[in-house]
Amino acid sequence: MRPLTDAAGRQADPISDTPERAELRAELRRLIAATSPAAEVLRLDEQERFDDKLHEALRRLGVHAVGGHPDHGGIGDIRDQTAVIEELAAGPTSMAVHMVVQYMITHILGTNGSPEQREEWLDRLHTGAAKVSFALSEPAGGTDIARVMRTTARREGDHWLLSGQKTWISGALGADALVVLARTSPAEGSSVDGVTMFLVPAGSPGLQVRELPTVAVHGLDTCEVFFDDVAVPESAVVGAVGAGFRQVVATLNRERINAAAGAIGAASGALDAAVEYARGRAAFGSTLGSFQAVQHRLVDGALAIESARSLLARAAAVEAAGGRADLLSSMAKIAASEAAVKVTQDGMEILGGAGFSREFPMQRWFRDVRLWVFAPLANDMVRNYLGERLLELPRSF
Ligand SMILES: Cc1cc2nc3c(=O)[nH]c(=O)nc-3n(C[C@H](O)[C@H](O)[C@H](O)COP(=O)(O)OP(=O)(O)OC[C@H]3O[C@@H](n4cnc5c(N)ncnc54)[C@H](O)[C@@H]3O)c2cc1C
Repeated sequence: MRPLTDAAGRQADPISDTPERAELRAELRRLIAATSPAAEVLRLDEQERFDDKLHEALRRLGVHAVGGHPDHGGIGDIRDQTAVIEELAAGPTSMAVHMVVQYMITHILGTNGSPEQREEWLDRLHTGAAKVSFALSEPAGGTDIARVMRTTARREGDHWLLSGQKTWISGALGADALVVLARTSPAEGSSVDGVTMFLVPAGSPGLQVRELPTVAVHGLDTCEVFFDDVAVPESAVVGAVGAGFRQVVATLNRERINAAAGAIGAASGALDAAVEYARGRAAFGSTLGSFQAVQHRLVDGALAIESARSLLARAAAVEAAGGRADLLSSMAKIAASEAAVKVTQDGMEILGGAGFSREFPMQRWFRDVRLWVFAPLANDMVRNYLGERLLELPRSF
């Protein structure tokens, strides 16, 4: 389901796509249809393989530079990133997850990287020539990560030595480097202090990556990463020593906004597939789509998607204008991920037995969208945050 104003051709409202962004969407749709149509997405999902061909086509189109640092070839802003993520998630969802991570990394390095780090990495990230993963979560917990973080970095001479383990790291197998958060001093007062961000090249001695078996997002590897005294120079520190966690938190609005875009895109793809199926499936002398119970479910899905999309557009507009989008982006992430769960759940029911078949795409969206309910931050935790910040209730965690 494409954005309403776009699809219905109504007069543009202030938060809908500009003509340029609508053209970017159309261009992406053409490219995805030509390079990675539904059958190819299914094939790669079954084989659990990254879509190198699509990645190359996206590189050529220049999508990696969208929303990036203007001094290094970046163009457009977060609203354009959401359009890219949405269009990808409606088809090759794993590539949307990959782009969410790459956009986060370019933002982290664009805001906190040293001139040398920006010089070395941003141009390559903006052309898609390099891939960098983000390693924060650990086996002891993702939601409470600042308190439970066990990965440490200690200074030895002119180097830092990293030890510990990260888990659930997207794309670590194919990454050229990882942005890693490690504790560099014991928490004093708040556990968010004393954590430092490092840029660690892949293949560093002592670094090991193991792919995890997961239920979804099969087109992108999800990995455990082990650090056994991995040595990096002082120049590998991203931003300020001890301030890494705070620096990352400052980028989370964008990640939430892009996660919401991913969920909305996947929900849109699933809804379109369900509508198409309902139109074509004969039953009781008519079609499934003629039954009120089926129509209501599809309409409720469209409503949930468009509601989440409105929140997303407001959050992205505030973020693009340099304002505080933390509440709107939190609400958009919850609304979008829950819309995606609802739409894909209903989609499975509308497809009946065909929903159960791995030869139909519904089951892939049904599995894939579960990610955004707990990642990058669990909806329960996002609600905790909204309880405190939006409703000014006592902190519940
Ligand atoms: C496919 C995939 C890709 C990922 N990619 C990355 C990546 O690239 N980099 C990275 O660093 N991480 C990544 N993650 C990790 C992800 O961010 C974490 O899974 C997420 O933060 C939740 O952490 P957890 O799994 O440890 O769950 P836990 O922290 O154990 O929480 C489990 C559940 O408990 C509940 N809960 C926890 N605390 C509270 C509370 N205070 N109040 C109410 N409820 C609560 C929530 O329902 C939550 O979902 C990825 C995960 C997956 C599965």
